[in-house]
Amino acid sequence: MTDCLFCKMINGDIPVNKIYENKDVLAFHDINPQAPHHFLVIPKTHIKTLNDTDDAQLLGKLTLTASRITKELGFADEGYRVVMNCNEQGGQTVYHIHLHCLGGRALTWPPG
Ligand code: AMP
Ligand code: ZN
Repeated sequence: MTDCLFCKMINGDIPVNKIYENKDVLAFHDINPQAPHHFLVIPKTHIKTLNDTDDAQLLGKLTLTASRITKELGFADEGYRVVMNCNEQGGQTVYHIHLHCLGGRALTWPPG
């Protein structure tokens, strides 16, 4: 998708503060962090929302990539949150699915 921000990152058209990459996924630091640790994990294929996929393997890879990175960055044991916003009421602003991973502080529940 030429007009998708995250596809542009995948293609190297705009800079990305990369944490990890393989053939399926890319993980990078969020530009507007909501916690001391806040990174995103995205698939390399353009998928608009969580409603538009039933690829369990790919969705599992996003989740497991996030948990592995929390271990590498050293906050797995303290705890963290992974969340995927979907559509307007879910707070989605970039329409290429992405798993948020937040940590480094005590997170409140319920979220706003
Ligand atoms: P969402 O609101 O769930 O769609 O999340 C989109 C996220 O993408 C937000 O947390 C933004 O801060 C983040 N974001 C937007 N542009 C960039 C960028 N250029 N680099 C890194 N993160 C970004
Ligand atoms: Zn995209």
